[in-house]
Amino acid sequence: MDNGVEPLDIALAQLETAAEMLQMDPGLHQFLKTPKRTLIVSVPIRMDAGNIAVFWGCRIQHNDARGPFKGGIRYHPCVNLAEVTALAMWMTWKCAVVDIPYGGAKGGVCCNPKEMSKIELEHLTRRYTNMLLDFIGPHRDVPAPDVYTDAQTMAWIMDTYSQFKGYSVPECVTGKPPVLGGSEGRKEATSRGVLICVREALKRLHMKLKGSRVAVQGYGSVGWNAAKIAHDWGAKVVAVSDSQGGIHNPRGLNPYNVFEHKKETGSVLAYERAKNEVTNAELLELDCDILMPAALENQITKENAGRIKAKIVGEAANGPTTPEADEILRENDVFLIPDILANAGGVTVSYFEWVQNLTREHWTLEEVNRKLESILVKAFNDVYQTAGEKETSLRTAALLLGVGRVSKAMEALGLWP
Ligand code: NAD
Repeated sequence: MDNGVEPLDIALAQLETAAEMLQMDPGLHQFLKTPKRTLIVSVPIRMDAGNIAVFWGCRIQHNDARGPFKGGIRYHPCVNLAEVTALAMWMTWKCAVVDIPYGGAKGGVCCNPKEMSKIELEHLTRRYTNMLLDFIGPHRDVPAPDVYTDAQTMAWIMDTYSQFKGYSVPECVTGKPPVLGGSEGRKEATSRGVLICVREALKRLHMKLKGSRVAVQGYGSVGWNAAKIAHDWGAKVVAVSDSQGGIHNPRGLNPYNVFEHKKETGSVLAYERAKNEVTNAELLELDCDILMPAALENQITKENAGRIKAKIVGEAANGPTTPEADEILRENDVFLIPDILANAGGVTVSYFEWVQNLTREHWTLEEVNRKLESILVKAFNDVYQTAGEKETSLRTAALLLGVGRVSKAMEALGLWP
């Protein structure tokens, strides 16, 4: 990882802080430091060229005290055990912060989806699912999309799982296409949740979203939808980026047009109405009111945190800010909405999807968005209030809530045998 800070070290340090403040039993702390189950798989598939390629994959099930394991599946060339373990741990706290009845998990396959054909990705997904078959399921562990996986990937998982069961099991996975029981509003839920939190933060700062200048790092599912909703709600999107670099226009960019441009050319770069191009690092330091990192971990570090000009950072990505950077942002009065609160809208609507599938219901978009709004506003208020009471950052407050709820659940369950 960049800057030598491993996401797992960050996750463990955060847990340590929460455990100390909660005066957690040392044995329970030890239990929470390690995942309940770590599954490592080798996934062989035949490539289009006729050769066999073998991909490393894993599924980490961190904790299920509050309900079935839940978490995304990431396809990326840098996926590794430590990263996925950190992401699984964050899922546990996140589900507890928004108080939905899930534990935390994460999966990953080390591959470069940009260099693979659709057939190769389908074979990889089906074979990977097959190797997880005994460990996932609607009441065990429910996967969802993450970086470089999408609704199509989830459809292949559902089909593979269902083929082995012998009947259709839509509730085994979330983030599916609506035609297969995917929830209305799931595609943009993570981003809508970030914007709901940003809107609440703006209220505390006596600022308005209308006219606020927004910069978004990452223009995938979460980044593009965040830019779109910010624009729809009256903000001015001044910069966006993807893995190849970013574009900037202080007068504002139209996210819809940028999306069309990326669809045609494969990147946001060379968009004709951009004033100038910026690197991903430069984007973070641009003059703006709201910064939403929506790509990968370790983007805001002790090197650049002092140069962040945004008044609000909404962590759409998981783990974009290192602990040293947290401190610097806090000293500079930057209002940081931590990932386990800011991006929890995705897993919240995943939960709605699972409930709809289990009960064979279909909720309208209005119903989904209304329920999402009420869960996230409550979670934001809970975190904000805890931060005030304990005189801590919002990140520590969110951890105190999340870790606290999980440890209470574990105490209530007791230890078998
Ligand atoms: P995605 O695959 O749809 O998009 C990822 C984006 O990041 C792409 O635009 C890609 O170009 C960009 N990117 C990749 N490497 C980059 C780099 N080095 N610098 C800048 N940009 C880079 O993935 P996503 O689902 O949008 O996930 C983005 C982040 O949001 C991840 O941290 C993920 O864990 C988190 N997240 C996603 C969801 C969800 O529902 N999909 C939910 C919660 C959190």
